[in-house]
Amino acid sequence: MRIKTIIDEDFVNYKQPVMYIGTAQCNGKCCLEAGIPLSVCQNDGWHESATIEMADDKIIQRYLSNDITKAICFAGLEPFEQFDEMAVFIKKLRNDYHCNDTVIIYTGFYKNEVLSQIQELQKFKNIIIKFGRYVPDKERHFDEILGVYLASNNQYAEVVS
Ligand code: SF4
Repeated sequence: MRIKTIIDEDFVNYKQPVMYIGTAQCNGKCCLEAGIPLSVCQNDGWHESATIEMADDKIIQRYLSNDITKAICFAGLEPFEQFDEMAVFIKKLRNDYHCNDTVIIYTGFYKNEVLSQIQELQKFKNIIIKFGRYVPDKERHFDEILGVYLASNNQYAEVVS
């Protein structure tokens, strides 16, 4: 799949250590809606960096070979803008590698904007989605499901399967 980066051991996006997969694109919806420059987006730096095409098998094997990480986290830019690639990855993880570890997806979309994609994901076990735009003037808050602080208090995580 197309990615911007992989962090093999990330400790800030979930209560357990995760492999962080930075996805390849975002139209900048949070900033566009808020009427602020794209540079305000906490993921803005990724727009400039090169997109890498990496085989799903290679990413999965890299994840499975690391005893520290317990889950996989797709995050910024916007994983749902390459939903089909992500779904193929998760299907391979579950079916070919028989791995039911938690998959966390950080999206800037609200739940009602991605209902059909959520239905697709519900074919797989142990999926958590963090919903909601980044809104600059909102307070950060602690999310009980993720076990970490989220940047604005309109954002929340839900166990969808
Ligand atoms: S969805 Fe993520 S990457 Fe896109 S504008 Fe919002 S915070 Fe930035």
